Amino acid sequence: MHLAELLTLGARPAAGLLLALTDRCPLACAHCSTDSTMDSAQSAGGPFRRLVAGFEPGCRPELILMSGGEPLLRPALVAELAASAARAGARSALLSGMFFARGGGLPPAIRRAVAGLHHFAASLDAQHEREVGRAEVFAALDAVLDLVPAASLHVTALPGPAGRDYLDGLVAEVRRRYGARLPMLVSAVQPTGRARDLLPAPAPGAARGGGPCEFAHWPLVDQDGTVYACTRQSLLRGGGPAHLVLGHAARDPWPVLRERALADPLLRSVRTLGPVATRELHGPAGGCAADACGSCLGLTAASAAGAADRLADPAGQRIERAVLALTSARSPRRLALARGALADYADLVELGWAG
Ligand code: SF4
Repeated sequence: MHLAELLTLGARPAAGLLLALTDRCPLACAHCSTDSTMDSAQSAGGPFRRLVAGFEPGCRPELILMSGGEPLLRPALVAELAASAARAGARSALLSGMFFARGGGLPPAIRRAVAGLHHFAASLDAQHEREVGRAEVFAALDAVLDLVPAASLHVTALPGPAGRDYLDGLVAEVRRRYGARLPMLVSAVQPTGRARDLLPAPAPGAARGGGPCEFAHWPLVDQDGTVYACTRQSLLRGGGPAHLVLGHAARDPWPVLRERALADPLLRSVRTLGPVATRELHGPAGGCAADACGSCLGLTAASAAGAADRLADPAGQRIERAVLALTSARSPRRLALARGALADYADLVELGWAG
């Protein structure tokens, strides 16, 4: 499964399911979006196993994407979930910070877990390189590429000339070593988790995008089994407003979670009109209506009633259909841009893609 296909699936509501298997990570990257350490939370794997084992060939996501923290701290769980998903016809992918590369080679348990995946995504950037050397990451990636049908590199950069010089050097080296075998998603570091300390504070009242939200397409199962409608983990820690909580993996099966994600009027409105327009149209008034996520987090039951009325109207339905059709017709490059990829490097997501 090529990175381009992964991005395409990412634009389809409930086509995939993100599983945050643990908050823990043995690395201490300065830009970690989940602020992970080895003391971070990690719950029993039961809710993940139950949810994925309940997939059926006729009702399942097309893909599970395992993340964390560092999901390969739980290699047996990764292998089990990938095998369980595959029995229902779902594919699996995983995003790793490559901690295991520090030891040289692939430990047997990690080798078994990786071998069951359809896509392996590795993080590498200036902050990761202070934790695991580039040469070690490349050596581990060589071994990974022998085990999986497809892989990609996920790179983030801080703003400014130093970040740009780093990116140009890394991209050139990856192209020389891997050619078109390793597409890359290159994005700016976002101000979440520990990265808040690395980035300048946004100007008061600064708007952060007024269009449809790209992060409300797939449900996220957090490490404690709570299922959210939004994949921006760090925003939802400790709960979230009712429209962003879909249920719990220990009790709600996939068909129920999928239906809630697809039918909730606020989620439909956030995916089509966007959170800012939804807040402006359906209230509540005031507050942080210029900020996308702030607007979304402040939506209420009264906003939901207004959104439901609008979406029941034929004009509202036409708008929803048109936006979803336009979204799913975008190229992988344009989808990457919508999710924050840097324009000068966005073509790299399609490297080696037959389309
Ligand atoms: S707008 Fe809402 S759904 Fe989208 S990322 Fe922000 S909080 Fe999540």
